Formats: sequence, C-alpha cells, structure tokens
Amino acid sequence: MSDIIHLLPDAIANQIAAGEVVQRPASALKELMENAIDAGATVVKVVVKDAGKALIQVIDNGKGMSMTDARMSFERHATSKIRTSDDLFAIRTFGFRGEALASIAAVAQVEMKTKQQGAELGTLLQIEGSEVKKQEPVAVPEGTSIAVKNLFFNVPARRNFLKSNPVEMRHLVDEFQRVALSYPEVAFTFHQNDMEFFNLSSGKLSHRIVGIFGKTYQGNLVSCAEDTPHLKIKGYIGKPASAKKSRGEQFFFVNNRYIRNNYLHHAVANAYEGLIPGDAHPFYVLFVEIDPSHIDINVHPTKTEIKFDDERTVYGVIRSAVKQALGAHHVMPTLDFSL
Ligand code: ADP
Ligand code: MG
Repeated sequence: MSDIIHLLPDAIANQIAAGEVVQRPASALKELMENAIDAGATVVKVVVKDAGKALIQVIDNGKGMSMTDARMSFERHATSKIRTSDDLFAIRTFGFRGEALASIAAVAQVEMKTKQQGAELGTLLQIEGSEVKKQEPVAVPEGTSIAVKNLFFNVPARRNFLKSNPVEMRHLVDEFQRVALSYPEVAFTFHQNDMEFFNLSSGKLSHRIVGIFGKTYQGNLVSCAEDTPHLKIKGYIGKPASAKKSRGEQFFFVNNRYIRNNYLHHAVANAYEGLIPGDAHPFYVLFVEIDPSHIDINVHPTKTEIKFDDERTVYGVIRSAVKQALGAHHVMPTLDFSL
C-alpha cells in the first residue's frame, strides 16, 4: 500500500489560514491598523476604495522594517512580538500570531513600502497571492504603508460573498472606530474614494469620543474609574438621559483590545437598572486593565473574545464602577469637558 499524505505548499496553506483571519475588507483593515499601533505609530492614515474591495491602505509613521524583515513579515508564523510560549501569557501587543500579513498576501495583491527610522533607503515589496513580484530599495518616508488591492482576487467564491458597499463600509468604519477609540493619543484619518470620513487629532479620550460620535456626546459623558488590586477600570459612560432605543455605542476594551462579552455588558446594563427604560441602551466606552496572566486572548482567531480566569470579579468591579459613576453624576455639578 502506498502513502498518501503530503504537506500542502505554503501558498495553499496560507490561503486556508486566510479563511480564518480575513473574512472581509474590515478584517484586513483591523490587522493593518493593529500592526501600525504595535509599530508605535503616532499618526495613522487609512485610505479605502470601493468599500475596501478595490483598496485598503494603512500608512503609519511607526518604526518601519528592514528589507529582510519586510520580506519575513509575509511568512506564516513570522512575528517580532513573541518568542517563547511563556510570552503567550504576557501579551501586550495586538499581534502575536504572525499570521495576518501572510494570510492577507495569500488572497490579495499587496504593496508594502517601509523604511526604518533613520535609514537612508526603504523597501518596496509587491506580493500577489503569496508570490513575490518585486522587491527593491526605494526612497520612501519613515514608517510603513501597506496597500491591499483587490481582496480575494484569486478566490472568486469569497469575493462573491462580499456584501454591498454600504454593508462592507459599515464594517470598515466599525473596526476603524474601535482602534481609534482605544488610542486617543494617536492621530487617525479615514478616507474613502477621496472623501474624508474621519479626521481625528490626538488628545484625550473624551475628545476622541466626540470626534467619532459627534457633538451630541459633549456634556453627556460621565467619567468612570475604579482601581482594585485585581484590575483597573477607566473610561466614560453616557448619562442616563442619553441612552438610546436603538442599540447604541457600547465598547469594552481589555488591555486596549476591543472585546465582545455579553456577561460584562450585563454588568453595565445592571448598574443602569431603574435609571433608564428597559428597552434603552446606555452608551459606554470602558477600558479594563488587568495583568495579562489573568486573561487568555488565544481563544479566537480574530481575538474579539477573551477568557478571564475570574470573570465574576471583573463583573463585580465593572458594575460597582458604573453604579458609583452614576451616583456621583447625580450629586456632582455638571462636568466640564474642556476639549
Ligand atoms: P503579528 O502582528 O502577529 O506579529 P503580522 O503578520 O501582522 O503578525 O506581522 C508580522 C510582523 O511584521 C510583525 O510582527 C512586525 O514585526 C512586522 N510588521 C507588520 N506590520 C508592520 C508595520 N506597520 N510596521 C512595522 N512592522 C510591521
Ligand atoms: Mg499583526
């Protein structure tokens, strides 16, 4: 009898992995923006065309890459962010899997321009469906620009599954907002088809919230903070009167990573009980800071779900922080949000 098992070629393995990492233009945008933040950027520009179907480009002023690293960054499991399995329990960066660029380059035409701080020349790299088409030294600004063109050009079934432009655009804006909210000290812009959607200067969180969601939030935010030995909470919640009937804007970040968690959402909703109608949704942007050894962010490929080793304590602290903020809000004079 003959053996029938063989290893898949890299290009195919990457394409399969891409199925997990890149579902739509917004997933590529998320990965690129997170890489820019991980690279220490203070200014991040996003440019999309055709709701990301034609182009998703992120330009940063971060630390850039050497020519070898630029090439390496597209290999699967290639990362500068962790080295040992111990590091998995102390993750402070967004990335650590070393999968995003390899996956994106497997299903798109990618052009990277990058230059390290202080270097004379940078690198231009073009990759199409995992195949390197061009690699040469070029004069470019410091930092990194990655343009992802024609996503799923070589996977027609996936391309056909993309939704209408307004729907894909909504997803892009959602991802953009999440990253922009968690880094108010970083300046962000967002352009689609040469139209400016967001121009967010760096500043305080309250300033960023108003920049993203509009002036109606000015004066409607209550600061929320709690400091315990196990975790810290900070952020803003909306005054009860500003709660919306439609499910409004609600954000949890754990160590600056956006997460979805119904249990913790319930902690906030519970604290509002009796203050807002049962069918209204409070606004909140809450940051939980916790020792990375108490969480596991390795449970989901897109990492919007994480595990806490003691979820009940986190629930309790959030609920009491929100309750306290709401109580304080009743007795305190109107807060001054000098922007
Ligand atoms: P991960 O972020 O999990 O490490 P990625 O595939 O997203 O994996 O990126 C691979 C590597 O490429 C990163 O670890 C980083 O060293 C480098 N890299 C990616 N994007 C940038 C960027 N915008 N600026 C500087 N380095 C980057
Ligand atoms: Mg990454």
